[in-house]
Amino acid sequence: MNCISCNTVLFGDNYVKFPCPICGEMIYRCKKCRKLANPYECKCGFVGP
Ligand SMILES: [Zn+2]
Ligand SMILES: [Zn+2]
Repeated sequence: MNCISCNTVLFGDNYVKFPCPICGEMIYRCKKCRKLANPYECKCGFVGP
């Protein structure tokens, strides 16, 4: 499992997961990207902060 923004490997509690607001697909993101508000793109095309 990798961060959707920076592709870093996710483990333990260094990530958050939430469903895409459009398609409901689970999105995994490291806390660093969340803190920095790095953009991410879901496979459905949704881009969010
Ligand atoms: Zn990241
Ligand atoms: Zn989506």
